[in-house]
Amino acid sequence: MDKLLDIRQISKVFGGVQAVRDVKFHVNTGEIVALIGPNGAGKSTVLNMVSGVFPPSGGEIRYRDISLTALKGYQYAGLGISRTFQNLQVFDDMTVLENVMVGFHSGTKSGLLACGTRLGRARIEEKGMRDQSHQLLEIVGIAEMAEQTAGSLPYGKLRLLEIARAMAVAPKLLLLDEPAAGLNHTETADLSRLFKQIQSGGTAILLVEHDMDMVMNVADRIVVLDQGEKIAEGTPDEIQQNPKVIAAYLGQ
Ligand code: ADP
Ligand code: MG
Repeated sequence: MDKLLDIRQISKVFGGVQAVRDVKFHVNTGEIVALIGPNGAGKSTVLNMVSGVFPPSGGEIRYRDISLTALKGYQYAGLGISRTFQNLQVFDDMTVLENVMVGFHSGTKSGLLACGTRLGRARIEEKGMRDQSHQLLEIVGIAEMAEQTAGSLPYGKLRLLEIARAMAVAPKLLLLDEPAAGLNHTETADLSRLFKQIQSGGTAILLVEHDMDMVMNVADRIVVLDQGEKIAEGTPDEIQQNPKVIAAYLGQ
């Protein structure tokens, strides 16, 4: 299989805190890789470096044949990398459909909200975008809510809305930061099926998630971080039996 994303010994230091230390793993084309570990392990920091929110302090991130480490934030647009955030980023007073349309204009940087505010409603809409956005809402299963304001949606549906928006750029690599947080069992099971469907369309997923049922169910491979370092990597079966992982995380 082709390596789509190749993370080579990346590190991140914030002031005196070593958030990530010499982490190395890869994501193949069309693969689902889960990144797991206790709170503060450095998972979101890894996603932030891959999506260009900030550069690594050391090491290199390669995507296809491009070194992401050398790119400026705005150069991420058009690469086919898309993400959702650990905290919801939704425009409450826009409709659900308009919220998806914002995704056509955004890169992967943290400035999604700034992007929507700058564009305003009039410019968000372009030819064909409405239809494509509607299709994305159908894929995630909330098309019947398209004309409601996003603020009126329950939490679980907002999570789906964010995924629809992230899919607007037809990503090759989708980065998801705790998508199942706050969801009930049924919603989580539905979300797992959605990820499999997205994968079958050829999109690779790097998934940060605490829900182990979801992780074991959807991930092809799992990478485990603890205190900024990779402590294990393997298939779901291998990870569940790994004594180091059980001690650091699964045994809690
Ligand atoms: P996780 O997502 O695995 O819970 P994070 O990547 O959010 O962990 O955090 C890893 C460590 O880096 C933590 O100690 C956290 O406090 C620190 N950290 C994360 N982001 C920042 C930041 N922007 N500035 C300073 N410290 C940060
Ligand atoms: Mg996090």
